[in-house]
Order: sequence, then structure tokens, then C-alpha cells
Amino acid sequence: MPHQPITVSGVEVTPLCDAVGPMGAAIRRPPAELFPGSGLRDEPWVLHFHCFLIRDAADRLTLVDTGIGGADSPASSWAPVPGTLAGELAAAGVTPAEIGTVVLTHLHSDHASGAVADGRPMFDNARYVIQRADLDAARGPVLDDVITVIKAQLQVVEGDAEVAPGVHVHHTPGHTPGHQIARVGQVAITGDLVLHPVQLDDPAVRYLYDDDQDAAARTRAEVLAALRAERAILATAHFSEPFLPL
Ligand SMILES: [Zn+2]
Ligand SMILES: [Zn+2]
Repeated sequence: MPHQPITVSGVEVTPLCDAVGPMGAAIRRPPAELFPGSGLRDEPWVLHFHCFLIRDAADRLTLVDTGIGGADSPASSWAPVPGTLAGELAAAGVTPAEIGTVVLTHLHSDHASGAVADGRPMFDNARYVIQRADLDAARGPVLDDVITVIKAQLQVVEGDAEVAPGVHVHHTPGHTPGHQIARVGQVAITGDLVLHPVQLDDPAVRYLYDDDQDAAARTRAEVLAALRAERAILATAHFSEPFLPL
């Protein structure tokens, strides 16, 4: 467990570092191509892949994102599989069966693949929360190997919703049509709203793999401005430090 938890208003938020590594050759590009106009130098971009565990004062457990999955996961074409989510949960003293709610920020293979293991749902007793717009857009291995497997446990939401006591999701389209962030107290778990710290300085910096780069930039600017105004703490998927107070 390389990262430490924080406790905010009686709720503990634990970063689970599922993997660390560069993108695989299939989709790797120089940083200046991934983030056009960013001025980033041509150094390898080493991503962390974070999920976040929320434990509230009543010991209810919510997991936000499920990481890159096993060696045969849909992310295996480009991400450093297998992910270590199960070990990270164990290190936090949690078994998969104890998780009551799983929020999938979006259905990209590095966020959703750990929802299943060996063709079965990884979290037997959980509701899996996704946005309708991402479900409607799902196709390929994530649909066939992940969504189909967890179908009976899906909780499909549209827009903003409280998905567990004190845990809210907000629809933040652009990176994908149904991208959502999760909020608990002052903490904002941002999925792929921001990919790289350069986008905090300039939210207009596009990301090559945003589904709709213009919508993503608009959403990023709006949401970051609102989070700054309330001095939120970002909990990011891919930065090397999981928490960043704004
Ligand atoms: Zn990490
Ligand atoms: Zn993504």
C-alpha cells in the first residue's frame, strides 16, 4: 500500500494503487501528442492507476473504480496487467464481499475491468453504479467481458445521484458520454476528468483519448472551477500522488 488514507468528516478515503507503469505500445504516444499544446517534454508518461475505498462512520464500504483487472482483462492490450486491487484491498483489511457499492467513473478498460475476476463478478454483494450514457455507449470487450457479467448487479443512474449514504455521483460528460465523478464530503474522486497535472494549470489542454475533446475541456474547466471555489481535495486516478488539495 504505497499511499496513505485520509479522513475527512469521519469518512476514511483510502487510495488503492492498482498499478504503476507507462501505456503499452498499442496506444503510447509522445506526451506532446497526448496533450496537444501542453508544452510537455518528450519523457515517458508513467501512470498510476488508482481506485479509492470509502469507509463511512457506520463502516459501510464503497469502492470507486476497479482498475485494470487480471492478466486476461480488456485492458491487457495496453495497461500493465495484472492489477493488484485485491492485494490492496486485503492490505486495507477488506474482503471483496464486504463492498456494498462500486462506482465506475466510466467504462474504460483501466477503470472497469477489475469489476470481474475469472468471468464472475469480483464484488458479490455490491451494486455497480454506472451512468446510462456510458452503458448505452458500451461495446467490445468491456461490454462482453465486464458489463454482461455484472448485469444483474448494475445500478444505472442518469445525472446526479446519492448512491450510498453521503456518497454522490455527478455526471461529467466528455471523456466518455457517461463519465461521472464521486463526492464524499470535501473529497472529489475525479476519474479521468483530469489525466495529467498540466490540465490543472490549463483545463483547456485536450487529451487525445477523450471521446469528445471539446466537451471534456468544457466540463473540466467548469468542474475544476467549482471544486476550487469550495477548496475540495482531488482524488485522482492517474497522478503519482493520489490526493491534491485545491
Ligand atoms: Zn499510486
Ligand atoms: Zn478513461
